[in-house]
Amino acid sequence: MIIPVRCFSCGKVIGDLFEKYQEQLKNNKSPDKVLDELGLKRYCCRRMIVSHSDIIDEFLRYNI
Ligand SMILES: [Zn+2]
Repeated sequence: MIIPVRCFSCGKVIGDLFEKYQEQLKNNKSPDKVLDELGLKRYCCRRMIVSHSDIIDEFLRYNI
């Protein structure tokens, strides 16, 4: 759905980083280096970005 604003485990604000992460992946950068550049060192924060699936736009198509 929508990326959570904070990491579930540690509370770090990660909501603004998902778009930057996706832009960097389009430039053929490897995900681990992009996460390091974004300052996500803890694996709890990294899993928030890596495991997120942005499907809100698909859901909106079924909302009449
Ligand atoms: Zn975290």
